Amino acid sequence: MTPAVGLASPVDLRVAPPASSAVVRARFRRQGRRDTVPELAVRRRLHARGVRYRVDVRPCRETRARGDLVWRQRKIIVFIDGCFWHACPTCGHWPTANSRWWSEKLRANVARDRRTDGVLTRLGWRVLRFWEHEDPDAVADAICGALGRTR
Ligand SMILES: [Zn+2]
Repeated sequence: MTPAVGLASPVDLRVAPPASSAVVRARFRRQGRRDTVPELAVRRRLHARGVRYRVDVRPCRETRARGDLVWRQRKIIVFIDGCFWHACPTCGHWPTANSRWWSEKLRANVARDRRTDGVLTRLGWRVLRFWEHEDPDAVADAICGALGRTR
């Protein structure tokens, strides 16, 4: 992990501030979990269309990121990003309690996503990112399009 760099003293992003509310505690519990509700909704739709995939796979040595859906042979990888943890511009919100820690944490998450995209793209992967708030039918359509499948 690269520590946060800045003129001010760096915030240790590995140590969370005390959870300020039940909502924050619930978010922490869900962080990084596989099989989230939006992932399952998309997987169910792909499965119904006969699309097979691998789940929660690290695509290559060059990144520690794990794709939510991966087609290794075809080098297609899908991430379904949680709106809070990945700072969705539509519905992600920036916590007011411990705001400095949170803003650095969420910015670091976004920066890591962009680095992951860069690494994978350079290695010839097609990276598809969706937000958890997106309509799972539309997400499944986009994935089928990328796979070259018609409905
Ligand atoms: Zn969102």
